[in-house]
Amino acid sequence: MNTTEKNIEWNTRRAAELYGIEEWSSGYFGISPAGEVVVRAPTTEGDATVSLMEIVDGMQQRGLQMPVLLRLENLVDKRISILNDSFAQAIESSGYRGQYRGAFPIKVNQQRHVVAEIARFGERYNHGLEAGSKAELMVALAMLTNRESLIICNGYKDAEFISLGLQARKLGFKCFFVLETLSELQSVIERSRALNIEPLIGVRLKLSTKVEGHWSADSGDRSLFGLNTNELVTVIDTLRDANLLHCFQLLHFHLGSQIPNIRSIRSGVLEACRYYIELVGEGAPLGYLDLGGGLAIDYDGTCSTNGHSRNYSVQEYCIDVVEAIQESLDKHRIPHPVIVTESGRATVAHTSILLFNILDVTNFEPTALPADLPQGCHEMIHNLWLSLASIHLSNLQESYNDVMYYRDKIRDFFHSGDISLRHRVLAENIYLAALQKIASLLPQMKRIPAELESLPQLLADIYYGNFSVFQSLPDSWAIGQVFPVMPIHRLNEEPSRHAIIADLTCDCDGKLQKFASPEGESSTIALHPIKAGEEYYLGVFLVGAYQETLGDLHNLFGDTNVASVRINADASIDFVHEIHGDSIADVLSYVEYEPNSLYQQFRQTAEQAVRDGIINVADRQQMLAAYSEGLRGYTYFEK
Ligand SMILES: *Cc1c(COP(=O)(O)O)cnc(C)c1O
Repeated sequence: MNTTEKNIEWNTRRAAELYGIEEWSSGYFGISPAGEVVVRAPTTEGDATVSLMEIVDGMQQRGLQMPVLLRLENLVDKRISILNDSFAQAIESSGYRGQYRGAFPIKVNQQRHVVAEIARFGERYNHGLEAGSKAELMVALAMLTNRESLIICNGYKDAEFISLGLQARKLGFKCFFVLETLSELQSVIERSRALNIEPLIGVRLKLSTKVEGHWSADSGDRSLFGLNTNELVTVIDTLRDANLLHCFQLLHFHLGSQIPNIRSIRSGVLEACRYYIELVGEGAPLGYLDLGGGLAIDYDGTCSTNGHSRNYSVQEYCIDVVEAIQESLDKHRIPHPVIVTESGRATVAHTSILLFNILDVTNFEPTALPADLPQGCHEMIHNLWLSLASIHLSNLQESYNDVMYYRDKIRDFFHSGDISLRHRVLAENIYLAALQKIASLLPQMKRIPAELESLPQLLADIYYGNFSVFQSLPDSWAIGQVFPVMPIHRLNEEPSRHAIIADLTCDCDGKLQKFASPEGESSTIALHPIKAGEEYYLGVFLVGAYQETLGDLHNLFGDTNVASVRINADASIDFVHEIHGDSIADVLSYVEYEPNSLYQQFRQTAEQAVRDGIINVADRQQMLAAYSEGLRGYTYFEK
């Protein structure tokens, strides 16, 4: 990334290219002429454009300090519409004789306001919910109002789970048990007899189709879930013996999340159809084919088959799925099933943005060097000084070798007491000046030596952000997921610094140093120099899927503040929900401290100090007030 080409004038179009915003944002975000990131929020009367800075202002007026997770409700609605409308169009245009039913997997974002919005808006499409545990089933039963919507129960199910799902059948819910193991089948039959309620049964297949990307292990022979062919036949025989074969109505598979290649999806569907045809032949009255999740998000905007992207659109996904099923089943004159998908990521990733401010910057620039070396400098410092003076385009690697050698020698002499602290400081500055000079000449080289390629990264600034990677972007730490990151303002100024972003946790993993864009992956991001007395805000985008609940309390940084907004057609902003993040007392109680007892213990320490004459009573009062206020405060950096 070469952002310092001074011959081309900087403008917001170049900013858009640099950060790839038009490529990864699916059109929901862009840059305004004022250099601010805007959301183009879909509304009933077309898109309404609102600057994120205006939303940040609104947060500040409401006392929501950074970091804040911003949820844009319009985008949840839009994504559900796109999914349902695209399937409807694909079904219509191909003459498919079956319907589509979506089921949002609650695990992808369990937050009440998100699930409630999906249930509310999804009602018009009979959009249902997928539950992978008892707790999620309880959420689904309470949130869904539409009896046409499906509830798909995946995961291991104990007798209690199964009983609850069976009771829900009595209320008219279309609640399916997807069998993951044979032992579950016994339990379903037994509970169904005991309660005298017929179940709706599905089976999860273990397909041999393999997919690319991080979740490739979710498919294939060694995948953790699903039944193999032998077990599948046992299910049919057991159900037939129990007179329940007519309950076996759904076939399910899940190849993994974030499937980058549409061809793997098509292969999976074709393989599943083979089972569908065989099972119908065996007398199972199937009517539903459930493809699970996997519909991917283009996190890096490359529209490719790398694991952070995908080579297809939602529309293409729908057309391919519909056509593959139709082609397979028509050959056998089998009626077209209801197509079910459990798309999580593709439904909610766009809706959330993590916003945070930059607190501080460390750079690796030398401070001003003297015109000449002072008296009495060590010989090695003289050598380093001469190396700096002789750096030239023709000897970059050689200069680099010399500089590194002298630097190490100087550090050794410091350790042995032969070089003073002040002279060491001077030497470190000469060393940095030399590296900067070498780095500045690199772009002019025809071929950059491998060792020098990482130089810009070594010299990159560290921007300290007011957030925790572990709490807010766990997948970036745990599985190397990239999310689009960029400043949300000042984009009409050229970003002149190269940086990595560190969080507040003081953990060496607590940083962002992999930045993807259509221009290629980079280990640094271009940012603006921070200005004294002015906040600098960054946004991490597409974080609505999986990040919230997977986040943890590393260093006791708790949940962030959350603002859910809805943007109206006239571009006015409704703050629909505001959630204040964890206080320090909250996070302490998660790890079994009782904030009140902590306060009492501290009070005793202070009181003892008064008795011992170390502090006076007024000091004591001040300390206790600070402690008590601290307990109520936000876990992040407060201004
Ligand atoms: C996780 C999961 C999903 C969601 O997958 P996405 O790729 O987020 O759409 C769907 N179904 C099952 C069974 C899952 O385990």
